[in-house]
Order: sequence, then structure tokens, then C-alpha cells
Amino acid sequence: MNHKLHPHLNQLERSATLAINERSAEMAAAGQTIYRFGFGQSPFPVPDSIVSALQENAYRKDYLPVEGLYELRQAVAEYHKETDKINIAAEGVLISPGSKELIFTLQLALTGTTLIPAPCWVSYVPQGKIVQRENKYIQTRFEDNWRLLPDQLETAIKSITGPRLLVLNYPGNPDGGTYSADELNALANVARENNVLILSDEIYGRLYHEVEHVSIARFYPEGTIVSSSLSKWCAAGGWRLGHFAFPKELFWLKEALASITSDTYSCAATPIQYAGLQAYNDKDTVGEYLFHCRRILSTIGNFCASTLLEAGVNIQSPSGAFYLFPDFESFRISLSEKGIHDSTAMCEQLFQDTGVALLPGAAFGRPAEELNARIAYVNFDGGKALQTSREISMEQNLTMHDLGDNVINVKYGIEKLIDWLKE
Ligand code: PLP
Repeated sequence: MNHKLHPHLNQLERSATLAINERSAEMAAAGQTIYRFGFGQSPFPVPDSIVSALQENAYRKDYLPVEGLYELRQAVAEYHKETDKINIAAEGVLISPGSKELIFTLQLALTGTTLIPAPCWVSYVPQGKIVQRENKYIQTRFEDNWRLLPDQLETAIKSITGPRLLVLNYPGNPDGGTYSADELNALANVARENNVLILSDEIYGRLYHEVEHVSIARFYPEGTIVSSSLSKWCAAGGWRLGHFAFPKELFWLKEALASITSDTYSCAATPIQYAGLQAYNDKDTVGEYLFHCRRILSTIGNFCASTLLEAGVNIQSPSGAFYLFPDFESFRISLSEKGIHDSTAMCEQLFQDTGVALLPGAAFGRPAEELNARIAYVNFDGGKALQTSREISMEQNLTMHDLGDNVINVKYGIEKLIDWLKE
């Protein structure tokens, strides 16, 4: 055979998050106890009314318009108006099989450079590499809660000529942090002054813990594309239903993406789009469900963060999603005595010694020699946790004690990690 890959594709690897999941599953099958903090999938079940909607619409077999079912686009636009206070028309919504696909297509379509604050989601940069697009990391700092500062953005902008796309993801994967309205406003001003387009990845927006999520599109509507999906807040990652919301100033870009997608995936699966309609319209069910998801995630995330903090780990308490991004710099000397000098070696050795699966900071765009890692605190039964939370008054706090044995592997995993660091 004389077939070959394009040379720029030779270095591509499987997404680190999927790889750790496969490895954890293999080791668990071989009888080892694994503390699965590696894979960032929502632990909760999809609400019953939305599952029923999918079942009831399974018979639908026809293709839908490339941009999506019109009623769904209307419902999504309405949702953005209501929750984000941004003026999105149904015509500005583009439905896709997961938001990942649209993030990829956007990078394929645009000229210029993508600015990516790091730590960042694992796929932005590989996607850029596939389409041979320039990526530039902006390294944020632990002290700033891993948030991008306006002057860091300004410096990065000045270092590049040509069009710039800034990707902002908040609440963030891998760090669980978010921005305040004032911080977003300041970033929006810098973006507007410099004609920077923003892709605002708000896939975890509905999984804020205590303080309500704010979209940067409130402050920079004309230059922001909002990205979201059912994958996290509705726990339906495998259903593959995402969207982009464009302001009218960017309809030209939406048209271009729709043309590309019409020649690639055609449309998101029809029954899933009908189920999505239920997900965006059944506000009472979703409101109640999200209240409990947030309360559970906040309880578990804060437990993990405070336990690690007490043990001497540098860690920020979470604001949303189900991630923490601890920094183990204070253990550098003892880790180096074990021959560990970077995040990848640290996670590998930790996994082998204890079965605790974390993903190294290097997978999220951090310099290899740093000693940070992502904890996805989702190794509990989400269905049982919802049941427990529903039995406790909404006015009361939910505790780890209330969640009982269901969170035993979270507790043991954190304990094992601390014992290993102190060995
Ligand atoms: N953005 C972030 C930050 C994510 O964590 C993910 C999924 O893990 C995605 C986008 C893509 O999600 P989906 O394609 O399932 O909508």
C-alpha cells in the first residue's frame, strides 16, 4: 500500500480523557480497585421526561434541516434570552451532533489564530492542529484561580497579527473555576477594542454551584458565539446534541458553518433533536433536577478541595462543573525523591501505586514540568445521589454524611492520593 497520512497528522493521539477511561476500565476488569477521577462525564441520569421524549420520537427517521429543527432552535434561543439575557434569534442557533463538532468546524472555517487560556479543555488544540490552524496558549496562574486577566489577553493580542479567535471556557474544564460579571466585562472590552472574536464555551454554564453563571455575550454580544450542549447539564453526552448561538452580526459565519456541515454530518439525529426540545421546554423538571445536581456537585467538590487543602495541596474551591485542578508543587521535593519531575510521570506513578486515576496538567496545555492534574469528582452513583438530595429540604445543606456510602470511593480516592503524597 502506498497510502500515507498527511505529515501533520502523524503526531495525533487519542484524546487523553478517553484513553484514561479505557485504561481504568481494563485495570478494573483485572480486579484492581480504581478510583476514577479521570473521565469527565456527568454521573447523573438524564431526567425521565427527556428519556421518554426520546423513546416517543424514535420512529422519526427523516433528515432534518442542516441548521436543526426550527422549534428546537426557537427553544434554545428562548433559553439564552431567559437565562443569559442575550438577544439570540432562532435563526442564530445552529444545532449539531455535540458542540465538539462545531468547535472543530469553526476552527476549520476561520483564518487567523486561536488564543487559548491554559489550562484548557483537551480538544481545542488538537482540533486546531488537524486543520493546521495557529494556536497560541495564554498561560494563566493558580493565584488568579486560573482565570485569564485582561492584561494577559492584551499582551497575547499584541503578539499576533491577523484575525484572532479567543476561546473562553467557564465554568472551566479542567479547573472548575469561573468568571464574575465584572471580570467578563473587562475581557469583553479588550476583545471589542481589538476586534477579537470570542467563542464562549459555556457547556458547564448550567452546572454553576452557588453563584449564577453569567455569559460574556451580555457584554460583547456582537462578537461572541456561545457554545453549549446537552452533554453536561442534561448528562446526555452520548446523545450528541450541541449548538452554537450567533448574534445577527455573525450570521455570515453561521451560514458558512452550516454549509460545511451540510456536506459532512447533514444534521444531528432527528429523535435526539425532539428529545432536546423537551429538555429546553420542560423548565420545571429541569429546574428541580439542576438544583439537586448543583447541590450534590458543590458538596462533593468542596469536600475534595478542602480535604486536599488541609493536606497542604494548593487548590481552589470549585465554582461550577465537576472538576478541580490541584497543584502539587508543595510536594515537589518528596516527589522528586521518587523520580517524579513532571505531571505526566506523577499521574502515571500515582495510578500504578494506588489506582487513583487523575489526568496530568500537561494534557490541558500546561507546561510539562508543572505538578498539576485534573480531578473529575464524578465517581459516585448520580441516580442515588439525586434520590438522597431529593429527600433533604431545599433550604438545608447537603453533606457528605448525607450522601453516605455512595461517595465512599470519592473519600477513599482522595485519602489514597494524600497518603501517597505524604509517603
Ligand atoms: N467543551 C468542553 C469544555 C468540554 O468539556 C466538552 C466535553 O467534554 C466539550 C466542549 C464537547 O462536548 P460535546 O461535544 O459533548 O457537546
